[in-house]
Parts: sequence; C-alpha cells; structure tokens
Amino acid sequence: MNPSLVSVKHLKKYFTVKSDTLWGKKSILKAVDDVSFDLYACETLGVVGESGCGKSTVGKTMLRLHERTDGSVWYKERDIYSLDRHELKQVRRQMQMIFQDPFSSLNPRKQVRDIVAQPLRIFNQGTRQEIQDKVDHLLEEVGLNPKFKTRYPHQFSGGQRQRIGIARAIALEPELIICDESVSALDVSIQAQVLNLLLELQEKYRLTYMFIAHDLSVVEFISTRIMVMYLGKIVEQAPKDTLVDNHLHPYTASLFKASPDIDPRNRNDEVLLPGDVPSPLDPPSGCYFHPRCPRCMEVCTHTYPETREVAPGHWVACHLY
Ligand code: SF4
Repeated sequence: MNPSLVSVKHLKKYFTVKSDTLWGKKSILKAVDDVSFDLYACETLGVVGESGCGKSTVGKTMLRLHERTDGSVWYKERDIYSLDRHELKQVRRQMQMIFQDPFSSLNPRKQVRDIVAQPLRIFNQGTRQEIQDKVDHLLEEVGLNPKFKTRYPHQFSGGQRQRIGIARAIALEPELIICDESVSALDVSIQAQVLNLLLELQEKYRLTYMFIAHDLSVVEFISTRIMVMYLGKIVEQAPKDTLVDNHLHPYTASLFKASPDIDPRNRNDEVLLPGDVPSPLDPPSGCYFHPRCPRCMEVCTHTYPETREVAPGHWVACHLY
C-alpha cells in the first residue's frame, strides 16, 4: 500500500443546536464522533452512508472548513490544526474540494475563464497570458471547448458545470481532492461520464480522492477502499472487493441489499432497514444501529462495540465480531 497522505485521528465535530423555543435549552449534535482513518496516496477512499451520517462533515473538518471539536488531522506528518493562516493556505493548495451542486459553488456573475483562473491568480501562477493559456488547457483536460470560456455558469448543463468545478479543483495540481456528493445531482449517463473523467485525471495527475456519496453503486464503481458511516461513526472499512464480497456489519449488509441492481432479476424490493435514521441529537444507547438491526443482542442495547481489525485492512465495529 502507498504511504499515508492524510491521517485522521479521533476526529470529533459537534455542533450546538438551539431549541426552537425562546427558553429551550441547547443541544449537542455529534455530527462526527471519534473517527480515525488514513488516506493513502493515489487511492480512492469511498465514504458511504445515509444522509445525515456525518460523511460531508468529515470532509469539511479535514480541510478546516469546519473547525474540529477534538482530534487531529495530519497531512504528510503536519497537524493541519497546528498551522497558522499562511501555512494553512499552502496546505489547502494541495487539498481541494468538489461540491455536489456546481451551480451554487460557481459564482454566477463570473465568466468561466475567471472562475477557473481564480486559484491560479490567488497563488500568483504566472502572467495574465500564462494563466489564460493554463485555463484553456484545463478546460480541454475536462472535456470542455475553450472557446466557450467567456460564457457564464448558467449557460452550461449540470454535467458541464461539474466539469468546470473539476477544472478549478485541479488548477493548482493538488494531491488530494475531496468529492462531496459530486455526481449525485446528475443523470445516470452524465454521472458515468464524470466518474470516468475523474478516473482519467487520477491516473494522469496521480490524484488521491476521498469520494463521499450516499449511492453505494457509485462508490463501488470508483473506490479502491470503502468506509461506511452511521450516525457520525465509522462502522466498517475495508478494501473495495472485501467490502463487496465479505461485508460484515449488519448496516453495510442492509445498504448492499437496498442498493438498486442494474439487472431487474437481482432487485430486492424487501424493506430492509426498518425506521428512519435516529436523530444525531439523541442517538440510541449502546450500538447506535441497534433499534434497526436485525441481529441485535442484549449487549448491543447498552455498550458501543469496539472497532476491531478482523482481517488485514478490514475494520468493523459490531459485537458479532
Ligand atoms: Fe447489530 Fe449489535 Fe452489531 Fe450493532 S453491535 S450492528 S446492534 S449486532
């Protein structure tokens, strides 16, 4: 395995939530609750789970777009929470993010050439002409015709706007890109095109991806390892093939059974996960999954399971293992 590029240790991100009433007390929302994992150079770590499980908050807290509550994030042996503003700016150059909704992440009043040029200008990457030449090259890299660079974001389709977001993300030649539900808003055929583009760019620029999505089939397609989250915690992580063929956690099993199969003969219409995800403001006692788990035991109702490595690189948090 390649060396670790980012190491996340016991990361927590809690939000204080005010009650709707004037005199109501404040509550603590544990969006990310003590997660530890590594991101290895040139891999794609897929992060999957139902909405509200904390996967996007992990990505944003890693980049310090949210400040942490506790824990640490190491980028090449430097704790990014110990960096000053100038040092953080240099590290952020290597760690970019692509968001779900390219329409809201691209400034509607700016031409595409200025949107893609923005990071190059911030980091003084050449003369005006050199930057414009680089913008043309970046647009070609993501499959867009540079002659449309004077257009505005609303003049492009959803898939093209996501390509613009990708061009901006690779402009400074980063090492890591966090893709936060980056294809979730796109039609299936456009999703496939954008995923293939991400794979091509990964090979060409030796990129490392953290790919966050609620759609397991998309994560399965692009990832080399997969991490499953439930209510702010990691419940299972393993190399992709291990997770697909030999997943152990009952929540992971439910996600796989609920994931639509392309072949209609393999579709399973059974209701596999009873109930909704509990509120992270008031998580269940013991294993957070126990009210929905078909294999719940008495111990699960009062004791959170330890995370154990059951095979090399295969970690699971469940009393069954
Ligand atoms: Fe189910 Fe218990 Fe495992 Fe939680 S710890 S997933 S409740 S078997």
